[in-house]
Amino acid sequence: MHSIDTSIAYAWDADSNDALAPLANNFHFPEVNGEKVIYFCGNSLGLQPKNVAAAFNTELHSWKTLAVNGYFQGTNPWLHYQEYLRSGLAKIVGAKEHEVTAMNALTVNLHLLMQSFYKPTKQRFKIIMEAGAFPSDQYAVASQVAQHGLDAAKAIIELTPRKGEKTLRTEDIISQIEKHGNQLAMVMLGGINYYTGQLFDIASITAATQAQGAIAGWDLAHAVGNVPLQLHKWNVDFAVWCNYKYMNGGPGAVGGAFLHERHAKNTNMQRLAGWWGNDEKTRFAMEKNFVAKATASGWNISTAQVMNMVALKASLAIFEQTTMAALRKKSIALTNYLETLLQTIPELGCEIITPANPQERGAQLSLYFTKNAKQIHEKILQSGIVVDYREPGVIRVAPAPIYCSFEDVYRFYEVLKNI
Ligand SMILES: *Cc1c(COP(=O)(O)O)cnc(C)c1O
Repeated sequence: MHSIDTSIAYAWDADSNDALAPLANNFHFPEVNGEKVIYFCGNSLGLQPKNVAAAFNTELHSWKTLAVNGYFQGTNPWLHYQEYLRSGLAKIVGAKEHEVTAMNALTVNLHLLMQSFYKPTKQRFKIIMEAGAFPSDQYAVASQVAQHGLDAAKAIIELTPRKGEKTLRTEDIISQIEKHGNQLAMVMLGGINYYTGQLFDIASITAATQAQGAIAGWDLAHAVGNVPLQLHKWNVDFAVWCNYKYMNGGPGAVGGAFLHERHAKNTNMQRLAGWWGNDEKTRFAMEKNFVAKATASGWNISTAQVMNMVALKASLAIFEQTTMAALRKKSIALTNYLETLLQTIPELGCEIITPANPQERGAQLSLYFTKNAKQIHEKILQSGIVVDYREPGVIRVAPAPIYCSFEDVYRFYEVLKNI
């Protein structure tokens, strides 16, 4: 173990050696008492990129000066707006461009893709998910199961950590998958658990799921823009995500969806259809009979919600200045630094429930306090550091590498040390 350097000089040195540090200048930071906050809440809502206002003005101008012709003319003809996001999103999730689409929002997309992928039979009807999954995912899966007239208590298998443990072991997840075997229709997990911050082994779990003949679906809300993903290579069947967390696409930003090309190209695959998913050559023929696009965009339903994509397009331009590999490298260093500093103040009485192995977590550390969590959270906020609190007892701290620094982490440590 290295000796722990708890001087601010260490943080300054790390920042001066950080090639990604200038990226923070691309973002607006809220202020408290005239000072920029330290923002560790990008796992909930990312900061506003500075290029967003101009990007909105561009579309407002098109609307003002072109009205309906804005679909075909102007800086970014709206008819193709979803396509402007595709290459950026594809890079970030490790997909081919025709495997991704931007549409709707996360939970809506989860419903739409489960509607296509969850085809329970008498024999094969079970869905494995995490106990305590994000509530929206629980509601979505339970209501999908109910749509098929099935009993959620029988059809949904919840994974729980071993006694005394807070996170799941890959070997236990895989043994549950094997146990339910040919009764298993789908595994639907969060790539990173929102509460514990645990990053799952998406490749191994996907392979184990498919070995049982089941579908591997992933909710990547906390993984996208946080850790490198290889959805195509990992052979994931489908994935959904939101773009307002680490992706900085703004509140309620358009969601994302991935379908592996073996599904995306299958125009016969059953789906809930709408005209925006129809082949563009015949979309405006206004005829009967849906002809799906042979891409993930074949799952689009309604007119592109342009105003809901503008900020994401602007944010993707910032991601273009770096790579997920570079962001991840900094992220691991930043989060390890946070962990190391916290370990020097055991009197704080907080347990880091996020896995200690950097390969099993993203940017976030979840600090579990047996007591006074809310008061501590309040104190942190008062000192100009934004973190959030999640029941029961957890303060989530997520130094997003795209705009957080080592000094930010140090300042957080200082505040905690003095509590
Ligand atoms: C943030 C988050 C959501 C939010 O879903 P929306 O449909 O965008 O409101 C859902 N699931 C998980 C795991 C999340 O982290």
